[in-house]
Amino acid sequence: MNTDRLMQLALEMAGLDEIPGDSAIHHPGEGIERILFGIDLKGSELKMAADLRFDCAISHHPVGGLSTLRFHRVLERHVDQMISAGVSRETAEETMAATIESRRILSSMTNYDHDPSVARLLDLPYLNIHTPLDEIGRRRMAEVADGVDADATAAELIDRFYETFGEFRNAETEIEVHVGTPTNRLGRIAVSHGAGTNGGYPVAKAYFDAGIDTVIYIHCRPDDAKKLRDEFGDAKTLIITGHIASDSVGINPYVDRLRDEGLDVTVFSGIIPA
Ligand SMILES: [Zn+2]
Repeated sequence: MNTDRLMQLALEMAGLDEIPGDSAIHHPGEGIERILFGIDLKGSELKMAADLRFDCAISHHPVGGLSTLRFHRVLERHVDQMISAGVSRETAEETMAATIESRRILSSMTNYDHDPSVARLLDLPYLNIHTPLDEIGRRRMAEVADGVDADATAAELIDRFYETFGEFRNAETEIEVHVGTPTNRLGRIAVSHGAGTNGGYPVAKAYFDAGIDTVIYIHCRPDDAKKLRDEFGDAKTLIITGHIASDSVGINPYVDRLRDEGLDVTVFSGIIPA
């Protein structure tokens, strides 16, 4: 196994034809058999991986290099997702423009080479795979949401998530309703995930204004949820599925695939078993 093939497998599973901006091979390598895989895996964990004789380290979250410098590009996925949910292209682009530009500038301010430079010194193959695995998770959650009747309540969809995904049952966090109430009718649902990070207030507002009744985020800042509550009251619903549990929903099918390929994969740093 090599790092190119590891990335390619994730892209294939997610139906993507190129490496998204928040994912990258930071130090290439081949002859890989033993992999350490974490939601966050940076410099100190690279040293640990080398000490424990792993021959490749995979992080889910971006860890510098191009995955930081090009991160803003995956935020464009919010635009595509909003358009497919019925938001006009003009509104969708306007909603994201300032966020994308400020993210580009903030990323350019970071010491982007810190963690990749550790991998090079250790000569340890190192990559991070973010959006492809989040896209796998988004599709899995959207499939469940599509199977629930529009007249069902938010609580019923949450129950269905718990029934379907061991990651949610095994997590120490709960699936929560941050806008609206658990007895709200679901109506039209948008699963907003797999676009770098949550879209906060402006993206949820754009969905609600376009007639979506229930938005699903994996996380949302409290001040963004408060702004939505102040504006929409209980008329709309925002369900928060939980960051690490939801990341795991997308990661586990990929880990299973690697093990099917005969690789020895050790998971840590938050990955919750199904
Ligand atoms: Zn994450």
